[in-house]
Amino acid sequence: KFSNTGHRIVSLDPEVVQQIAAGEVIQRPANAVKELLDNALDAGSTQITISVKEGGKKLLTVQDNGHGIERDDLPLLCKRHATSKLRSFEDLNSLSTLGFRGEALASISTAAHLTVITKTAAAVAGLKTRYRNTILEPPGPLPCAAQNGTTFIVDDLFYNNEQRRKALGSGAEEYARILDLVGRYAISRPDVGFSCKKQGERRPELHTVAGTSTQDNIRAVHGASIAKSMLPLELSKSGEEVAGTPSTENTLTFSVSGFVSCTHYSGRKGIFLIRINGHLVQCRALEHSLEAAYFSHARNKPFVYLDLKLPGDQVDVNVHPTKHEVVFLHQDEILACINEAVEGLLQGPIRCHCMQSIA
Ligand code: ADP
Ligand code: MG
Repeated sequence: KFSNTGHRIVSLDPEVVQQIAAGEVIQRPANAVKELLDNALDAGSTQITISVKEGGKKLLTVQDNGHGIERDDLPLLCKRHATSKLRSFEDLNSLSTLGFRGEALASISTAAHLTVITKTAAAVAGLKTRYRNTILEPPGPLPCAAQNGTTFIVDDLFYNNEQRRKALGSGAEEYARILDLVGRYAISRPDVGFSCKKQGERRPELHTVAGTSTQDNIRAVHGASIAKSMLPLELSKSGEEVAGTPSTENTLTFSVSGFVSCTHYSGRKGIFLIRINGHLVQCRALEHSLEAAYFSHARNKPFVYLDLKLPGDQVDVNVHPTKHEVVFLHQDEILACINEAVEGLLQGPIRCHCMQSIA
C-alpha cells in the first residue's frame, strides 16, 4: 500500500495522469454520449443513432453519417490533446466546433474498451480499430464493411474504476439521463435526425427526422401538450451601449431565438434548454430569473428553449471540464433583456394553442 511518509514529490506516470483526467471528463454514461454526439455533429452528420445497453454501463454505441476519419489519423484519434479542430489558443475566439481540446476520446478510451468503425466517402471499405488507454491496439486498423461515417462502440464503461461504477444509478436511471440529453440535442438541432434506443429493441424511444422544425422536435421529445403551449421568442440587440466608457467591449450585441411555455402550461419541474453559440449549457442565473418570472405570473414551472448567439470573442467555453457552463461578457445585461422579453410574452395577449384541443 502506498504511504507517503517522506513527503517527497514525484511526477505521476502519464497513465495515472490520464486516468485522473478521464475521471473528470467522463463521470457517467451520459457524459460519454454527449462527447460522442458533439463529435458526430462536428463531423457534419445529418443522422445520429444511439443504442444503449444497461443505461450505457454495459454498452453504448453512437453511429453517425459524418465525414469519417482518415486511415492515417487513426493512431492519433484517441491521443490526449490531439484534435483536428484547434491549432492555436486564439482559435477559441472564433470556434465553430463543439469540441476543441482533444480530450474526450482519450478519456473514453481510458475509462472503457473502445472500438471505432469508420469510412470516409473516398475510401472503398471501412476500417475497424480498437483502443485502450488512448493507444491503438494491435494489429491496427482492419478493413471491414461500413457505411460512410463513424461508429463508436463503448464497452464496459469504468471496468477499471470500481468506485465510479458503484456511484452510477441503475440502468434505467442512466438510460433516462441519456434520453434527456439526446432530447436536448434533438430539439436544438432540427437539421439532424436523432434516434435513441435500447440495444436489441426495434422501436427507438426517441426519434426525430432531419429537417423538421424545432417545434416538431419539442413535440416529438416532450409531447403535444408542451408543444401547444409554446410561444416563440425572438430578440436581438446590435451594438447597444452598456454603462461605462464607450468601446466595442461596452456594447451589447446578441440574438436570442427560441420557445417558452405560456402560463397555461405547468410541468412537474422547470425544463431549461439553453444553447449558447451552439453549445448546450447550463446557465443557472438565467434559469433562476426565468423561474422567478413564471412563478410570479402563474406559480408554475416553465419549459424554456433559448438559442443565444453572442460574438465569439465574448464567450469563454473553456471554463468547465465537461464544458457544461460557459462564461460570457455582459451576462447581467443580457439576462435582464431576456427576462424582460419573457415577461412581455407572459403578460401579452394569449397566443398559445393550449385551448384549441379543449374547444
Ligand atoms: P475534439 O473533439 O476536442 O477534437 P475528441 O477526442 O473528441 O477531441 O476527438 C478527437 C478527433 O477525432 C477530433 O478532432 C476529430 O478529428 C476526430 N473525430 C472524433 N469523432 C469523430 C467522428 N464522429 N467523425 C469524424 N471524426 C471524428
Ligand atoms: Mg470531441
